[in-house]
Amino acid sequence: MDFTVSTYRQLIKAFLEGGYNIIPVRDFLESKPQGKVIALRHDVDEQPQNALKMAKAENDLGVKATYYFRRVPKSDQPDIIRQIAAMGHEIGYHYEDLSKTEGDMDKAIESFKTNLEYFRQYYPVKTVCMHGSSSSKYDNKHIWSRVELSDFNLIGEPYLSFDFSKLFYLTDTGYAWDGGKYAIRDKVNNNFTQSYHKTEDVIESVHKGGFPQQALILAHTLWTNNAGLWTYLHVREFFRNRVKLLARKSKFVSSIYNKLVKLYWR
Ligand SMILES: [Zn+2]
Repeated sequence: MDFTVSTYRQLIKAFLEGGYNIIPVRDFLESKPQGKVIALRHDVDEQPQNALKMAKAENDLGVKATYYFRRVPKSDQPDIIRQIAAMGHEIGYHYEDLSKTEGDMDKAIESFKTNLEYFRQYYPVKTVCMHGSSSSKYDNKHIWSRVELSDFNLIGEPYLSFDFSKLFYLTDTGYAWDGGKYAIRDKVNNNFTQSYHKTEDVIESVHKGGFPQQALILAHTLWTNNAGLWTYLHVREFFRNRVKLLARKSKFVSSIYNKLVKLYWR
């Protein structure tokens, strides 16, 4: 079984054995490191209890990463945020204000500010990261056409602050490391030819020295050792990927999908 916490541990171990330094987004942007480095980021879209397990696994291996939380009940669990912050991981805000306000820029900026202050109760947040909101027509990043990161005392946003001509971007969207075709907004212009499907492919590449020197890795928090949850999430992601593709071609499917997504996150 791939995408379990056990597999996740093996992945982290492989990078450490391969001589990679694994650090949070904030540290990468502040120190601009040379050599073999992975900036490790988690978008906690949901399943915060899994986030906690992944954070513990990293902690056991002496690794720190970044956890971006959303301001929705399925992500924003204060007790879990506190525990993850206490381990020394970076906490950031996974923002979606523009899609939540249906494109109202003034309201979105206000709500961004309020939500950022909210997360700063738990951690001195320095980086934020867009939530893709694939069912919405609004791109949450457009907020930055009106305001700047520094206006909020922020130093970075993964989609804006990295040079992806030099940094390999690897994401586990849709339970595959090459599932980019399902992503609507979680995309960057990468110059790399490496492509992986399963986690063992990534591990093998690291062992053989074929993995790029520097990378930003996004691992969602859907990695679980619980067989029931694992099966449910795999079946759901399978159908969701297909619906996302269909929704791009059909307005009807798109509007139904949009309504279902809103119901789900309520
Ligand atoms: Zn997200």
